[in-house]
Formats: sequence, structure tokens, C-alpha cells
Amino acid sequence: MSDVIVIGGGLSGLSAAWELQRLGIAYTLIEVKPRLGGSIQTEYTEGFIIDHGPFVLEKYGDWPFLAELGLPDSLMTMGRYRDGELVVFAEGTQTLVDALASRLTAPIMQRMAVSSLGLIDDRRYGVCLENGVMLEARGIVVAVPARYADHMLRTLAPEAALLLNDYRYDPVARVHLGFQAQAVPRELPIATGGLFKFAESYGLPGRVPADHVLVRAGVRLDVEPSVATPDQALAGARMHFDAEPVLARVHYWPEADPLTRYLPEHSAIMDAMDAALPPGIVLVGSDYRARRLPDQVAQGRLAARKIADVL
Ligand SMILES: Cc1cc2nc3c(=O)[nH]c(=O)nc-3n(C[C@H](O)[C@H](O)[C@H](O)COP(=O)(O)OP(=O)(O)OC[C@H]3O[C@@H](n4cnc5c(N)ncnc54)[C@H](O)[C@@H]3O)c2cc1C
Repeated sequence: MSDVIVIGGGLSGLSAAWELQRLGIAYTLIEVKPRLGGSIQTEYTEGFIIDHGPFVLEKYGDWPFLAELGLPDSLMTMGRYRDGELVVFAEGTQTLVDALASRLTAPIMQRMAVSSLGLIDDRRYGVCLENGVMLEARGIVVAVPARYADHMLRTLAPEAALLLNDYRYDPVARVHLGFQAQAVPRELPIATGGLFKFAESYGLPGRVPADHVLVRAGVRLDVEPSVATPDQALAGARMHFDAEPVLARVHYWPEADPLTRYLPEHSAIMDAMDAALPPGIVLVGSDYRARRLPDQVAQGRLAARKIADVL
């Protein structure tokens, strides 16, 4: 039996596992997908480095975890923003995921979905997988989006599950189009605000081949009847350009941008949820309190320490 089970191999779950590893606590990480990273996903293709999820990041103050992970010079500054700066990972945001994953030596169960959590006795929880297997642990880090956490917690902590019910997102398909630089006007021919949440082009040395640009657009589905699928979003973006792209990609993230997190009552709901969770169960992730990437690292690690305190 592992002392702790971490559910979800995105940045929050990986950070929790990293801290458990540092504390010498036996853990198992469970991730439903065949890859780690959750919504962080970088593609390396034809000279392009494309971040399909988080890309340009707001940075305020130091990020000391980068040096701890052996990534002290991994960021490129794009410009000033408010009282901080905008940065990207020079080799893609996936660099962070890979560095975290490389630190983990405990079992990682991939392609395994957790369906529900239960209480075995006053010292042990049961973690039920969709294939019928049940694992035991004394502590659980739940690091999955709210719509999945809601289902998992219904038996063990129904009050907490109820608070996660009906979580709302702004789902956006991310389209990437690579072009020869001269084929794309400086001012992109895409109006933003409705169907297109954003549209921008950039030519970053090292991430975009010389004499090329990468156009990146966020397309909302179902704003127009003809744009209801990711492929239609890709076609909808392509039709704004006369030139043939050298590269075209679309990724759909149903849990991008959790709108519920912006509600004025969100912080109070999170306090109520923490109070409704049994000891040894901690919920972390970008849907809850960890809005930015360094928050997810910090709160994943904090979750591990909170559980260590009650083991
Ligand atoms: C397109 C996009 C762009 C973004 N841009 C930014 C940005 O610019 N800046 C920023 O700070 N944040 C951004 N975010 C938010 C960003 O995703 C988060 O900051 C961070 O990556 C979330 O990490 P997480 O571990 O909390 O959640 P996730 O990345 O969602 O990870 C959760 C993991 O749990 C797994 N899982 C789900 N259900 C189960 C189950 N039943 N059993 C086992 N595993 C399960 C999932 O497969 C996933 O791997 C963006 C998100 C998206 C989708």
C-alpha cells in the first residue's frame, strides 16, 4: 500500500508527487491519459515548438522552483506586464513537466481513471479505478479538474462534491498555423471578441523557423452554427489567409479557463470545500485556488506537506 495516492498527472499532481518524493513518503501517481502534463503539452515539429496549452505566462517575482528542478535559464522574457513580465519556456512549457517527471521514482499508473473514493476504516481510504481495481492509501491528493473531482468525491465527501457541481468553463479550441513570414500581414485579418477569443502571430527565434511566423488563435465553438467542432475551428481560422500554411494544428481543451473561478464567492466556496474534505484528502489545481503556474507548483507541494502532517 502507498501512503499517499496522487490523482492527476498535470502540473499540480506532479508537483505534489515531487514533494512527497522529497519527503520520502511512499506514493503512487495515477493519470488517466497515456502522457503526463495534463493541459501542458508541447509539440516539436518541422522546426516549430508549439505549446498547445499554457504558453505565454505572467511572471511576478522569482520562481525558485526552476533552479531546484535544474531549469534556471529555461525562460525567455517577452516583455513587461503590469508589475511583472511575460515569459515563455524557451523549449516549451513541457520542459517543466519533463523536469518534474524525471524526479519521480515511485509507481506511475497511466491510462488508469479513478472513478470514486471511499472510506475503508478510520485510517485508510479506498481509491476505485474504472477497471474495478481498488487501491488503498492513508492520504489522497486530488489534482483533477472540478468536473471529475465532483464525481470522485460524491460518496466520500458529498458536501464537497456538491460545491463542485456545475462548474463552468470557457472552452476554446487552440489553432496554430505556421506560414512563410511574407504570407501573413502584420495586422492579422481576424476580428477578435466573438468567435475568435484571441489571434496573434509571432516569430520567436528557436521556436519558429527563420522567415516564418506562427499564428495562434483561440476559437470558441458554437458561437456560429458552422463552427461546432475543432476541425471546423481550424477551417474557420485558415479561411482568413490566402496562403497555404506549412503547418496546421488544432487542440480542443474543454476545461480551459474556468469561469467559476472568477466568481466573487469563489474564495468562500473553496474555504467551505476545504472544511468539507476529510483529513488526509486535499484538492489542488488550476480550477481551485492555483490560478497561475507557480501557484500550481506551490500548492501541489503544499498539499503533499499537509498530508504528511496527518499520516
Ligand atoms: C489551452 C490552455 C491554456 C492555458 N494557458 C495558461 C496560461 O497561459 N497561464 C496559466 O497560468 N495557466 C494556463 N492554463 C491553465 C493551465 O492548464 C494550468 O495552469 C495547469 O496546466 C493546470 O494544471 P493542473 O495539474 O492543475 O490541471 P490539469 O493540467 O488539467 O491536470 C489534471 C490531470 O488530471 C488527469 N485526470 C482527470 N481525470 C482523471 C481521473 N479520473 N483519473 C486520473 N487522472 C485524471 C488529467 O488527464 C490531467 O492530466 C491554460 C490551460 C489551457 C487548457
